[in-house]
Amino acid sequence: MENKVNPFESFIATMERAANIMGLPEQSYVRLKTCERELTVSIPVVMDDGSLRVFQGYRVQHCTERGPGKGGIRFHQDSDIDEVRALAAWMTFKCAVAGIPYGGAKGGVKVDPSELSKAELARLTRRYTAAIYPIIGPEKDIPAPDVNTNPEIMAWIMDTYSMLTGYVVNGVVTGKPIEIGGSLGRFEATGMGVMFITNEILKKKNRDIAGTRIAIQGFGNVGRNAALLLYQRGARVIAVSDVNGGLYCDTGLDIPAIAAYLAENKGKMLEDYIADGVKHITNEELLGIETDVLIPAALENQITEQNAGNVKASIIVEAANGPLTPDADRILEERGVTIVPDILANAGGVIVSYFEWVQNIQNLMWDREEIYKMLEKLIIKAFYDVWEETEANHTTLRMGAYILALRKITSASKLRGVFP
Ligand code: GLU
Repeated sequence: MENKVNPFESFIATMERAANIMGLPEQSYVRLKTCERELTVSIPVVMDDGSLRVFQGYRVQHCTERGPGKGGIRFHQDSDIDEVRALAAWMTFKCAVAGIPYGGAKGGVKVDPSELSKAELARLTRRYTAAIYPIIGPEKDIPAPDVNTNPEIMAWIMDTYSMLTGYVVNGVVTGKPIEIGGSLGRFEATGMGVMFITNEILKKKNRDIAGTRIAIQGFGNVGRNAALLLYQRGARVIAVSDVNGGLYCDTGLDIPAIAAYLAENKGKMLEDYIADGVKHITNEELLGIETDVLIPAALENQITEQNAGNVKASIIVEAANGPLTPDADRILEERGVTIVPDILANAGGVIVSYFEWVQNIQNLMWDREEIYKMLEKLIIKAFYDVWEETEANHTTLRMGAYILALRKITSASKLRGVFP
């Protein structure tokens, strides 16, 4: 099945396509075809009933040519080494596109966190942190939230790392709660970046965000914040979904009301939400809905060779990492669909992570407005840098973004040379 697509192999194939377009010899990027350092750990956890379970975890550093490793940690039952490698590699390219001084890394634990109590989740997180302790740190590799991880989990990571080190090290992780060195604006940063990028691509198409129909797959941190911010800008968010299914209303959903309903009713999903004129739809139906913009904001490999033909949107903004398989990408590209790639569209999160890390290192705090302004400036600059590469090479935005990243990474690599 299409879901078996090995995401790290997809990454290499995409990188090679970009290298061919720019005429980059393989010697210049061959190191990016493997990961610099990979750590697999087993994580024993005493469960609440006294039994012992062992989970598998990973931390992968793909490339640190441009700076220390940076990237989130995901807790998911399908997490495996190939997924974590791909996610780490995408971070290398994302940080290069965003112009922030990091390499790429990523972590994963193979677990369905919804099956764990809070105490079990805390023990799992702390033991995982201890297991990867030797390779993380503010100068080495800085984790952050990703799928199914949040500020509270980042607090446990920061505390465990600090206990093992013997003093407080808040710069070891980003996406922390504000009280312990988190940055204002980090929580909504990825969704805000998606909103800025959507606005920019619409401008390029001579369209106004107000009234534009948008469908969003995924209603976690990224999907939900993107939906709220796009709604505030006057977009008509006609469909949203989570793992169980979604909601649809052609005149536009009341996103603040939906977000408030979920916040007030813990454990409820979108399928439980009832309102006049709101239809319940499946995830598959959402992907094929009549819309101007489609924003996949869930997991990788959601739009595949099988369902790419159903997509009706003329613009796709990749808020998730790797939501399109290479086959789907090719099919949609041939149809002339404009695809804004993940390594640009969802860079808002890591950009504000960078601001958080800088604030931690200097022990200072910036205000929210300043952070929003700097985020906007950096992500829009990245958009125009990618746009220029795309035009100069007569190619797609994905290739433009990969070419820009390859240029930056390989020139850093060349300057540093090969040790010893
Ligand atoms: N997990 C997020 C991403 O995929 C954020 C990573 C970070 O802030 O380091 O970009």
